[in-house]
Amino acid sequence: MAFTRLRVAVFVDGCYWHGCPLHATQSKTNADWWRSKIEANRQRDADTNRALTEGSWLVIRIWEHQSPVEAAAEIERIVARRVNDIGAASSR
Ligand SMILES: [Zn+2]
Repeated sequence: MAFTRLRVAVFVDGCYWHGCPLHATQSKTNADWWRSKIEANRQRDADTNRALTEGSWLVIRIWEHQSPVEAAAEIERIVARRVNDIGAASSR
């Protein structure tokens, strides 16, 4: 999901696949394989964030476990601040 005019990108990350700090359950079988798999995902997330940030995008990451209401409120707050920042910048 993206607000293209504002350059705000929103990702919803799955707790397991992206290594959520609250729900990162360690698989007992093939633990090393899973750990490196999830670590690779996290690395890719970081690369994506960096690429977008360098292109002056704002990145919002929501965890799968967050309630939709909570997530929507967070996005709304960040987007509102973004609108303000861009408005302030363009009136200079
Ligand atoms: Zn989680």
